[in-house]
Amino acid sequence: MKIDQFPADIQGHIVPNVRGNYFYRCLGCGGQFGIEELLYTCPSCGAVLLIEDAEWDGLKEVAGSKWRQIFDYRRMLNSPALSGIYRYHELIGSIIPVEDIIWLGEGHTSIVAANDFLNDWAGISVCFKNDGQNPSASFKDRGMASAFSYLNFLIKRRGLRDVLAICASTGDTSASAALYASHLGGKVKSAVLLPQGKVTPQQLGQPLGSGATVIEIPGVFDDCMKVVEHLSENYAVALMNSKNAWRILGQESYSYEVAQFFDYQVGHLAVVVPIGNAGNITAVMAGFLKLLDLNIIDSLPAIIGVQSEHANPVYLYYLEPEASRRHYRPVTVRPSAAQAAMIGNPVSMPRVIMLAERYRKIAGEDSVRIIEVSEQEIMDSMLTANRNGHIACTQGGECLAGIRRAIAEKKVDPKRLAILDATAHALKFADFQNKYFTGAFEPEFEVVPKNELQNAPLRVDLPESVPNPKEGALEPPRLQEFVSYASKEVAGFLGLRSIRKAGESK
Ligand SMILES: *Cc1c(COP(=O)(O)O)cnc(C)c1O
Ligand SMILES: [Zn+2]
Repeated sequence: MKIDQFPADIQGHIVPNVRGNYFYRCLGCGGQFGIEELLYTCPSCGAVLLIEDAEWDGLKEVAGSKWRQIFDYRRMLNSPALSGIYRYHELIGSIIPVEDIIWLGEGHTSIVAANDFLNDWAGISVCFKNDGQNPSASFKDRGMASAFSYLNFLIKRRGLRDVLAICASTGDTSASAALYASHLGGKVKSAVLLPQGKVTPQQLGQPLGSGATVIEIPGVFDDCMKVVEHLSENYAVALMNSKNAWRILGQESYSYEVAQFFDYQVGHLAVVVPIGNAGNITAVMAGFLKLLDLNIIDSLPAIIGVQSEHANPVYLYYLEPEASRRHYRPVTVRPSAAQAAMIGNPVSMPRVIMLAERYRKIAGEDSVRIIEVSEQEIMDSMLTANRNGHIACTQGGECLAGIRRAIAEKKVDPKRLAILDATAHALKFADFQNKYFTGAFEPEFEVVPKNELQNAPLRVDLPESVPNPKEGALEPPRLQEFVSYASKEVAGFLGLRSIRKAGESK
C-alpha cells in the first residue's frame, strides 16, 4: 500500500524517523557509556551491558492503542527494510536510519498450532514458532540483523573501517554472522570460532559457504567463548556474540511478533524458550516488559526457560527459592542433543537475574520458571513433534519436553496456550535424528531409542533373475519385468489391497 493510502493519523508514523538517544548501561556498576564505540563489557567493572534509550519515555506520548495500529498498518507497507524485525523500529534500533537497515528475510516466522494428538501428549495446547524459517535457519538472524545494521550504520556514517566480525558459536551464531557479513561484501570480513566436532555438519558448512574464515578450537563452546573474549579485549574486532547488546535488541522482536500475532493479548500465554548462553530468554523477557511499559500489551505472559540436565547452570541457580541465598556457579557440560544450548557458563546470566526479578515483581513469582529435562525427553519430544507436522530442532524438542514437565509437575496452568520456540530448523540437527534412528547415540548422551519413534528406509532388493536398472536404463519388455517385480515388493511392504478382479492381469 502507498503511504497516502494509509489513514491520515497513521501516515506520519508509517515510515519511522531516526529518534532516541541510545546508550550502554552496565548491569554491574550501573555506569552509562556512549554507543559510538563498540563495547561488549563495562570499561570500568567488566560486567555485561544492555542498551537503553534515554528518550524512551517520549514513546509514551503515543498511546498503546496507537502503537498497535502503527505496527498493524506497517504490515501493509511494501518496504524491505521494515519487513523484518524493524517493523518495530522505535523499540529496536530507532537511531538507525531506515536506509542503513540490513534485511535478509528474517523475522515474522510462522506460529503453527499443534494437532489434537500433540496437545494431549503435552497436556496443554501448544504452538511452535518456527524460528528455523529465518534465512540462516535459526533465531540468531534476529540479533544479527540488528548488530549488522548497526555496524553498517557505523561504516556508512561514522567512518568505521576494516571491520572483522568475530564470534564463538555452538553452530548457529556463526552461520548467521557469516551470512550477514557476506551480504555487506568487502566492508566486513568474518571469522568464526567453533568447538571442534561440537557442531553439526550443516552448521559447519554454513559459514564456509558464506566465505567466512572458520577456525576450529579444541574443547566446548565455553572454551571458544573465552578465546573470543580475550581477542575482543586485545584486538580490533567486532564481537558478534550475544554479549554484544545489539544482538539482544534484535532478538526482542520475537516477543513483539508473538504479541502482534495474538492481537496484543498475551496474558494467557506461556512462552517457552531453551536456554544456552541465555541471550534469547533475556531478549524475550525484555521485549514483553517494553511492550507492557508502553501499554501495547496489558499483561505479561508466563516465561518458561528450559535446560538439559547436561547443561543446567540457570536451572541450578533458580532451584533455591530464596533470592538472597541463590548462588551462581558455572557447570561443566556433558554431551547434549540440544547442542546449540550446551553452555555451562552463560554470558547473559546477570541479564537474566535482573530481568527475571523485574518480571516477577510485576507478574508474580510463578511468571518466570526454569525447567530441567533429560536428554531422552528432548529427543523423544522433538521426534514426536515432527511426526505431527512440525519442523522442530532438538532445542524445539527441549521446549516441548519442558512444557510437558512443567505440566506434569503442576508448575504451569494447563489452561494456558504454550508458544514453543523452535529456535532452528530440524534439518540443521538431522544428525541427532539419525543417531536416534540408527541407535548410534554414544552412551554419554543417555538416550535410548524408543522403537515406535525410530524410522528407517525399506529397500527393494532384486534377485539376479530380475532386470536391474542399476546396470543401465531398461527398455521394454525388461523394464516391465522390473516394474512388476518392484511394485509387488512395495505393495507387500505397504500391505496394499489389489483392485483387480481374480484372474484379471496386466
Ligand atoms: C543459540 C541457540 C540456542 C540458545 O540460545 P541462547 O540465546 O544462547 O540461550 C538455542 N537453540 C538454538 C537453535 C540456538 O542456535
Ligand atoms: Zn560496570
